[in-house]
Amino acid sequence: MTVLAIVVPCYNEEEMLPETIEQLRALRQQLIDEQLISSESKIVFVDDGSRDRTWTIIYKACLRYEEIKGIKLAGNAGHQHALLAGIIAAKQMAHCVVTMDADLQDDIYVVREFVRKFQEGYDIVYGVRKKRDVDSYMKRWTAETFYRIMNRIGVKLIYNHADYRLMSRRAVEALAQFREVNLFLRGVVPLLGFPSTTVYYDRKERKAGVTKYPFMKMIRFAFDGLTSFSMMPIRFVSLLGFCSFVVSVLFALYVLFLKMTGHTQTGWTSLIMSIWLVGGLQLMAIGLVGEYIGKVYQEAKQRPRYIVDVDLLNGPMIARHER
Ligand code: UDP
Ligand code: MG
Repeated sequence: MTVLAIVVPCYNEEEMLPETIEQLRALRQQLIDEQLISSESKIVFVDDGSRDRTWTIIYKACLRYEEIKGIKLAGNAGHQHALLAGIIAAKQMAHCVVTMDADLQDDIYVVREFVRKFQEGYDIVYGVRKKRDVDSYMKRWTAETFYRIMNRIGVKLIYNHADYRLMSRRAVEALAQFREVNLFLRGVVPLLGFPSTTVYYDRKERKAGVTKYPFMKMIRFAFDGLTSFSMMPIRFVSLLGFCSFVVSVLFALYVLFLKMTGHTQTGWTSLIMSIWLVGGLQLMAIGLVGEYIGKVYQEAKQRPRYIVDVDLLNGPMIARHER
């Protein structure tokens, strides 16, 4: 039977955790009673360097309940890295891993659908928010703009999917091969290419505590996502440099024409020509340097170039999934 691990990153969640622990235990018990998951299934809390009582709460829960496991990160590694630490630790003990936030904003009973889809043969199941009316207008607008920009530059993002998803063990193993420091899970997971599907759910309001993603952190996150997947900003500088160089040449010709027809002050011609020409050249040079830095950046990420789905050369054909 399917062994499930639910991974929950926590950063200063002391207000929320006691309830989260109880609700997730109830969810787990219910899924076991429905014979959907095995009783070996676990709930893994990752303390992302919290400064409040979060770890104490997790630690006590671990002592008290066998199904609760905890990991404490040395410092605040950030949501994405906390998630990664959790799923990599959990993959040893489970067939599939579900990640969710500690604040129970996402309907936890959707996990039932996640597991069913996994049993049907999907490696990745994305939880997608049906509507976002509980989020502020600002949050909705920024999120929408972000998805639009990312799609425009060709990054396959699942619209309105946050980090609420199920991944099979082999999907987690493949993900572990992405060695980049600025890990942006929402962009990387679709790159894995394994069979995937989506499940829709309603998003509720945070029950206790405050958001750990204030506005500036959210912008930073979006910008990281953009620059980890695209050289577009660099290309834009190159293009700008090229255009301004072309314009400067035309302008220089115009200025020369003015000089020849005697419509200028002394000294103005040479001054304006050098400003424009040198400015254009500089921008173009920066863009060119950027192109090389871009290459370094792509190589430095050391992403795997492919991920094997079925391997018939090495060993016998094994069942596609362990379920
Ligand atoms: N979180 C984390 N490390 C951080 C920031 C957040 O582990 O540096 C966790 C947080 O405890 C929560 C989840 O990531 O479980 C999502 O954060 P939050 O609910 O505050 O974000 P929002 O839903 O407001 O975007
Ligand atoms: Mg939240």
